[in-house]
Amino acid sequence: MNTEQTVVVQCPYCAQNFEVLVDCSIEHQEYIEDCEVCNRPVELVVQVSPEGGIAVETRSEDV
Ligand SMILES: [Zn+2]
Repeated sequence: MNTEQTVVVQCPYCAQNFEVLVDCSIEHQEYIEDCEVCNRPVELVVQVSPEGGIAVETRSEDV
């Protein structure tokens, strides 16, 4: 069973969309992924609902 899904997120730095691979077998996870466009570290907060919906929130590391 493939639990990985590609989700498009928006970079909080350069506002470009890029794809991240999300492991749907984990209900809640937070990790850092470098933006494909500007290469800055984007904090991703991923929430997977029991119905299989994925919500991804992006945060910038420095404010
Ligand atoms: Zn970026």
